[in-house]
Amino acid sequence: MDAVEELHARILACRLCQDAGYIERAAPVVAGKSGNRIMLIGQAPGVTELEVRRPFAGRAGKELFRWMASIGINEEEFRGRVYMTAVTKCFPGRTGGGSGDRRPSRQEIELCAPYLDAQFSLMDPRAVLLVGGMAIERFFPRTSLDLLIGGQIERDGILYIPLPHPSGASRWLNDHGHRALLRQGLDHVRRVWDLFASDQAETVDASGGSALAGTASAMFE
Ligand code: SF4
Repeated sequence: MDAVEELHARILACRLCQDAGYIERAAPVVAGKSGNRIMLIGQAPGVTELEVRRPFAGRAGKELFRWMASIGINEEEFRGRVYMTAVTKCFPGRTGGGSGDRRPSRQEIELCAPYLDAQFSLMDPRAVLLVGGMAIERFFPRTSLDLLIGGQIERDGILYIPLPHPSGASRWLNDHGHRALLRQGLDHVRRVWDLFASDQAETVDASGGSALAGTASAMFE
C-alpha cells in the first residue's frame, strides 16, 4: 500500500461528522492515485456518488464530462489522470426543503480539512481545478466568482483554475457572459492537461519535479 492508499484507508474509516451528528451516515468517497499531477476539488459527494462511491457519478458529473469532452478529454482518461476529491468527502444530505444537496457547514469543512490538506501535500499537484463556489472559496476566500472563473492563478508554483459547479442547481451559468468565462476556463484546463496529464509520475520521478515546474513557469510568465 503506498502513502496515498494509506491516506485513503484513513479517510474511508472516518466517522467524525456522523459521530458529531452532522450527517446521518459517513460514507467517504475517494478516488485517484499517486502520480496524478492534476487535482480536481469539488464541494461534496451527492446521493449518486454515495451509492456508487465514485466522484462526479451523477447528473453534475455528466455535465462536467460534457465540458471535458468539448476540449477533447474523455471521461475515462480524465478519471485515470486526475486526482478527484472534494472539500468534504461524505454526502451531506438534502436541504431542509429537499430541493438540492445541503451545503456542508463550516464545522464539517473544518473536520474534513486535515484530509484535504494531507491529500494536497501528498499529491503535490502542478494544477488544481476548483469546481464550484465552496472549493473556490477554500483557496480564494472573499473573491467574486466573476473575477476568478475564466482565469488561472499561479500560486507557489501551482496553477489554479476555478470553474463553476456543473450541477443544474447552479444559476450562475444561465448568464451568457458567464458561459463565455466557462469556455475560457476550459481552455486553461486543456492547456494544463497537455502539460501535466501524460506520463506524469515518470516525468516527476526522473526530474525531481524541476522539469515540470520549469515548464509551468515558462508558460505562465
Ligand atoms: S466529511 Fe470528512 S470529516 Fe466528515 S465524516 Fe466524512 S470523511 Fe470524516
